[in-house]
Amino acid sequence: MAAPTAESGRPSARVDPTRSRSGRLPVPPPYPGRVPVSVPDHPTRYDLDRSQLGALLDGEPRYRIDQLWTGLYEQARPLDELTTLPQSLRSRLDADLPLALDPVHESASADGATVKWLWELRGGARVETVLMHYDERSTVCVSTQAGCAMACGFCATGQAGYERQLSVGEIVEQVIRSVQRARLPDAGGRPRRVSNVVFMGMGEPMANYDAVWGAVERLQGDLGISARHLTVSTVGIVPGIRRLADASLPVNLAVSLHAANDTLRNELVPINRRYDLTTLGEACDDYVARTRRRLSFEWALIDGVNDRPSDAGELAAYARARRAHVNLIPLNPTPGYPTRGTPPEGVRRFRDQLLALGTNATVRQNRGTDIDAACGQLRAEHEISVGAPTRRR
Ligand code: SAH
Repeated sequence: MAAPTAESGRPSARVDPTRSRSGRLPVPPPYPGRVPVSVPDHPTRYDLDRSQLGALLDGEPRYRIDQLWTGLYEQARPLDELTTLPQSLRSRLDADLPLALDPVHESASADGATVKWLWELRGGARVETVLMHYDERSTVCVSTQAGCAMACGFCATGQAGYERQLSVGEIVEQVIRSVQRARLPDAGGRPRRVSNVVFMGMGEPMANYDAVWGAVERLQGDLGISARHLTVSTVGIVPGIRRLADASLPVNLAVSLHAANDTLRNELVPINRRYDLTTLGEACDDYVARTRRRLSFEWALIDGVNDRPSDAGELAAYARARRAHVNLIPLNPTPGYPTRGTPPEGVRRFRDQLLALGTNATVRQNRGTDIDAACGQLRAEHEISVGAPTRRR
């Protein structure tokens, strides 16, 4: 939010050097190897790139930008902890570049291994972020859009529809806030470092490609998270897969398949009517050939719908053809699609069928179901239960 002054209600004069007449931040000349991304009308703390932030510090000594950039990204410290900066500058930045994410709710599982936030963004849209600690890594699952236009019937976000795109800063801040939270030792836990980011929260990353890619570059270049530890998940938007195949950083690609015949996939994942399995498969093949990276397919196991032996056979053939890895996850039932997920012994059977057919498959734990942390549930729960007694810990 640009800080309106009390007198005029207009953005403060100090912000003006970075603004064109229209009030928008001008797009700076790109850094070598960096793609400029458009900045929202009311940028938040992590929306500006280094040169845009530098313009905001006009009049300050040059080393201030290094102090600020290092503090915000490399150290991922809150502004009020950046005590190398004068208090007056911190206050001005706090007003001119507010945080994007206002916590509506934060919940943690009893063992502290999963933390989930529901955030409110400027304008009132709500998104979720989940932080998951495993033995060897800590992963953040970020949202890329408020809502989603892909309309997959089994997905809570798809049921609610599309609201708006997230900006680079709104995506990056989800990771920064998670990094800060992970540092706090939980009961019986230890401080953790966020090592992985998956773009698997609310929204379709390929339908907000530029902001997602801007976030990828910021996470890799400035937060220091290796591109190989970043995973972009798509419902199967073919032009996005093709763009990713040409991208400069080796991020991982996950495709949410859920069905490997067009009749069933048209029903479960409506975008399949635009990009059918043959077209999707060709884009995946090109991606693998060009990048030599391993592809993974996501498969939410739905009881009696896509967990039959014939489904395993179709999936194995489709995955084997492109040497893809399969991630199985039992469906998490949602209000608009109350069908249950495949029970545990069915999940094991399905996995074993895939393995017997020569396809690598692992079962993903559905983390955070006890705190409604699975797939759009926290937001759904809050929309339903406003004013109702809470059953959270
Ligand atoms: N739109 C992107 C990323 C967000 S969804 C995509 O489709 O890949 C992240 C993953 O969660 C996808 O694989 C999606 O199919 C899956 N998912 C959505 N709703 C689910 C549910 N109720 N249970 C289990 N997985 C679900």
